[in-house]
Amino acid sequence: MKIEKTLHSRIDEIDFNNISFGNHCSDHMFCSEFRNGEWKNSIIKPFENINISPKSLVFHYGQAVFEGMKAYKDKNEEVFLFRPEENFKRINRSAKRLEMPSIPESIFMNGLKKLIDIDRDWVPKHYGQSLYIRPFLIAMDRVLSAKPSKDYLFMIISTPVDAYYEYPLKIKIEEKYSRSASGGVGFAKAAGNYASSFYPTRLAREEGFDQILWTDSSTHTWIEELGTMNVFFWLKNKLITPRANENILSGITCKSLLALAKKEGIDIEERDLSVSEIIDGLKKGALKEAFGCGTAVVVNYFQTISYQGVNFSLPDIPDDQRTSILLKKKLLDIQHNFSEDPFGWRLKLKRFL
Ligand SMILES: *Cc1c(COP(=O)(O)O)cnc(C)c1O
Repeated sequence: MKIEKTLHSRIDEIDFNNISFGNHCSDHMFCSEFRNGEWKNSIIKPFENINISPKSLVFHYGQAVFEGMKAYKDKNEEVFLFRPEENFKRINRSAKRLEMPSIPESIFMNGLKKLIDIDRDWVPKHYGQSLYIRPFLIAMDRVLSAKPSKDYLFMIISTPVDAYYEYPLKIKIEEKYSRSASGGVGFAKAAGNYASSFYPTRLAREEGFDQILWTDSSTHTWIEELGTMNVFFWLKNKLITPRANENILSGITCKSLLALAKKEGIDIEERDLSVSEIIDGLKKGALKEAFGCGTAVVVNYFQTISYQGVNFSLPDIPDDQRTSILLKKKLLDIQHNFSEDPFGWRLKLKRFL
């Protein structure tokens, strides 16, 4: 792999006490090209615009998949990745569904580790803060015919992010629009899934809601996800999340919270969860908490759930008694090397250079 280090670091432009999401990319980026059936030209170089033909297939047919992950610092400013092999496996599951080549593990992991090592000063040092990492794969063929590309570009970029403070969400159970359909690409982290959720999300915002609780596309009776997060319900003293299926993206945060909850002795269930069970739980006071989870926000809990025009309030529990906040702290403690890592999730970043 070629490495070209920048001569003009931009790190002094960042106010690490006031980081805004995605505004400042770190000094370097990783690129690797797939051409004639082979991966080549892997390079780490200064972050810059890329030169790309307007004919590139990604613009016209949306062959694009991505990942979202984070690097964290501990008290000694050592840098850690969190379960990166899960992101590696998932981007290749997504790529397969979009008829894209799989990325070799050595390219993904070496690119990732060396890039974050070079940019380690960009990982903010306070608890809760992190360097958000965005690997992505796009179709590069310069043809307008609708067929899978032969050439691809895989890149990794990153941006420092602040700790996210959860605010109580007003949720709408969606009965018209869908995020995914059976046989579709819902389980994949495909760029187009996001594009198609923007319009219904804006409509929900205009009605005064923060997020959409997606239901299955054919009957709108089964709970799937919250916006672009997985979702948990604390119902009848059990922590329940819809079982990952082809309509649901299998989140690494969700998987990790399940493992942590289990270790805490919490009764967990991964199963199909119906809208009527949730509404019934709200009416009978059996639903104590509900929250979304994902890499970007970690957790965010619900204040109200609206269904068919009726607003239901969830109990107003102090933060320090919320399951979501407890689990978030356990997760962040592992991510920041504040606690033991019983599951072997942390990867300490070596110094290569
Ligand atoms: C990325 C994503 C998630 C969360 O996955 P994490 O690995 O926990 O970040 C959940 N749902 C959708 C639709 C996503 O795109």
